[in-house]
Amino acid sequence: MSVSRWGDRVVPYPADLVREYRTGGLWGTRTIADEFRAVAAAHPDRDAVVALDGRLTFRELDEGSDRLAAGLAGLGLAPGDPVLFQVTNRLGAVLAWYGVLKAGLVPVCTLAAHRGHEIGGISRRVGAVAHLVEAGTGSFDLVAFAAEQQRGHPTLRHVLVLGDPDGAGVAIETLGAGIDPAVARRCVAEIQRGIDPDEVAVFQLSGGTTGVPKVIPRLHAEYWYNAAAYARSWGWTPATRVAHLIPIIHNAGIECAVHAPHSVGAGLVLGSADLAESLPLMAMEKATHVLLGHAHYRAFADPRFPAAAAALTQVILSGAKVPTALFDDLERRGLWSGQLFGMGEGMFLTTPPGSPRQARATTVGTPLSPRDEIRVVEPGGEAEVPDGQVGELICRGPYTLRGYFDAPDVNRTAFTADGFYRTGDLATIHTIDGGRYVSIEGRIKDLISRGGEKISAEEVEWLLLRHPRITATAVVAMPDPRLGERTCAYLVVEGEPLTLDDIRAHLAGLQVAKFKWPEHIEHLAEIPRTSVGKTDKKRLQAQIAAQVEAAGGVL
Ligand code: AMP
Repeated sequence: MSVSRWGDRVVPYPADLVREYRTGGLWGTRTIADEFRAVAAAHPDRDAVVALDGRLTFRELDEGSDRLAAGLAGLGLAPGDPVLFQVTNRLGAVLAWYGVLKAGLVPVCTLAAHRGHEIGGISRRVGAVAHLVEAGTGSFDLVAFAAEQQRGHPTLRHVLVLGDPDGAGVAIETLGAGIDPAVARRCVAEIQRGIDPDEVAVFQLSGGTTGVPKVIPRLHAEYWYNAAAYARSWGWTPATRVAHLIPIIHNAGIECAVHAPHSVGAGLVLGSADLAESLPLMAMEKATHVLLGHAHYRAFADPRFPAAAAALTQVILSGAKVPTALFDDLERRGLWSGQLFGMGEGMFLTTPPGSPRQARATTVGTPLSPRDEIRVVEPGGEAEVPDGQVGELICRGPYTLRGYFDAPDVNRTAFTADGFYRTGDLATIHTIDGGRYVSIEGRIKDLISRGGEKISAEEVEWLLLRHPRITATAVVAMPDPRLGERTCAYLVVEGEPLTLDDIRAHLAGLQVAKFKWPEHIEHLAEIPRTSVGKTDKKRLQAQIAAQVEAAGGVL
């Protein structure tokens, strides 16, 4: 085990398990950059990425990211330095991903939608050294934002820009363009030789249940293993074409759409949430596999979907309970469908080819790895509940984190004494045709899942309480036909009622990402409490759900 630059801020996997994972052939001995390099050398002329704004073969992606890495090293960025990523689904984002990894830097997976509240906190926590943003993202100028974030932030020395930096940073796509490919390759090889595969490769962010976003350290060997095991679970080959319309910087994007196809020499067909551009791309590029969340279910009703699905052999649904009618409809159309449960913290479950239809329709399947361990226990406790009953899913294994970054207090409650991670998700184990499959039955963690984007209720409550006239609040999920859930805030205020515009202005003033802003508010004289004095969220959630239903589905 390496001596990490992060010291005790990263909780290591137990050394005996690391040895077993390695001798068992689960964990490799290479960094992610070297794993990618080996695959690129084996499949140089295959498409690595086909995006809406261009395409790259493995050779082109490999050479381009070598040059970029050499350019980053030339800027004085050193191995281990964290780089904030605020990018969307563009070709350059994938190039930048591998370029940053090849330079030995550590991508921090923030979102393009994050603002000062999120970026300020996270970048200081990890000591970010560079901030990669995308130019031309519409109404919000991320480049100017990055320049502003540097102020009073001594570690944040570089603004890197995808697209035209307009004088405010370094254009990343052309960085290192003049460097001889062989020189760039040697530079990357030298950097990678110095990196331990058990070191932190990537910082992912947790959906978070507390007021403070949690940082998930992912290590080279386990992160690549997670992706490779995912590709194996679906039986992918170099001929597979993986379409992805969800943000690639999410854990599901990086693992399921970038690393997993690349682990087998398969291609990524990179679309966006805009079906008008993404469905024709899928059709043209003959996508064979697609992963869709609740927010994309409308794709199935789109008149362009049949052409997009012409070559599909696998449709994977994730993020929320799958409606039976939807599953039946897909299978009736001849589209083999399955499910995925995944989390930035690690654990993945899938319904691989060969799973019984009932398991694919009603469960998220089985864990990826033979060394994964899952238990369903009394919520918050450790006593297992019998199969068939609902309890909290806890898990441990060769790619599930052992601790959040620099968070000893959180870690004390987020894990059991023997290192199982408490997912906060409610699950049941079913026996189907002799196999044990897991269904997800809800969650106990206090968050809202808005189109797959997780929002911590506690964080929003804490931000609302900073309003001078809000004296108490409870934030809950309200059902939404398109996004699955949206945020509703119950408020107790002093004086006149507040409007939604007042709330928006307050949160904009605090520089909070827009997707976290409540989309509906209700005023109360007081917040209802349970018999033990806790906010009665169940009651409030039921109340708003009934209101939504009475209003015909949307408020
Ligand atoms: P993230 O780390 O943002 O990918 O979020 C992980 C969380 O998303 C899980 O803990 C679950 O709450 C939720 N989730 C992921 N997949 C599913 C699924 N198939 N069904 C229900 N919830 C899911």
